Amino acid sequence: MARILIVDDAKFMRITLSNILKKANHEVVGEGENGKDAIELYRQLNPDLVTMDITMPEMSGIEAVREIKKEFPQAKVIMCSAMGQQKMVVEAIEAGAKDFIVKPFDEARVLDAINRVLN
Ligand SMILES: [Mg+2]
Repeated sequence: MARILIVDDAKFMRITLSNILKKANHEVVGEGENGKDAIELYRQLNPDLVTMDITMPEMSGIEAVREIKKEFPQAKVIMCSAMGQQKMVVEAIEAGAKDFIVKPFDEARVLDAINRVLN
């Protein structure tokens, strides 16, 4: 089971993901609301994996992935994208994200992506 950091500016999305992850016995070690939170919490918590929203105030998920990967090249990040964000998903993968999941979240797909990235 993994220690996971959830980053999304929408509380509802964080709750939804958190419920899916906890049900699968993962541990949600922290929650952030923007890219800056993501970087700080990553440093503090050293999670096994991060789920990262793309569009957030202050600092986007793409910028945050770039910064986290610079500091922690082994970091595992899964992007959370909405429909129509394919271009940003590609950008995030180029920045070092390992995979992406699409909102609204499908429980099986979320857990599949997480297992793939952890293995
Ligand atoms: Mg957002």
